[in-house]
Amino acid sequence: MHYSRIISFVALSFLFTQCSEPETSKQFSGVEPQLWELFSLFEQEAQLRGLNYDIEALGITAVIEEIPREHVAGSCFFGQLVQNHITIDRTFWRNSSPLQREMVVFHELGHCALLRGHDESILANGTCGSIMRSGLGSCRDFYTSSSRDYLIDELFE
Ligand SMILES: [Zn+2]
Repeated sequence: MHYSRIISFVALSFLFTQCSEPETSKQFSGVEPQLWELFSLFEQEAQLRGLNYDIEALGITAVIEEIPREHVAGSCFFGQLVQNHITIDRTFWRNSSPLQREMVVFHELGHCALLRGHDESILANGTCGSIMRSGLGSCRDFYTSSSRDYLIDELFE
């Protein structure tokens, strides 16, 4: 009796741990756990292109919270006076597909980790040539499973 109680406790706590942690094994201190998977993927995509970015070592922090400005899905504050900090809009996060989330998180990491500014280049078909577009230019976003590789190459170029 005593043993079976211990066993069921262990089984339950194991189950609980499995459920409460995101799928990614990598954790980033100062970063909201919901963002860990995409932060880790950003490092992996960099590595696939022969680049090394350690987001935690760069001191980048991130949260998901309401941004009180219309049509703003994310922001990154960076510079010499502030620690690089990313905010992803909660409403955007809730209503967006995995690819849309990836594009916005990678865009903000483009500012905060790669220190890139905006790039409004436009492809012949009218779609944006970079995910570093400001969103205020004339190009159309086209971040899909078919254009993703090209646009991530461009991000890390
Ligand atoms: Zn931006």
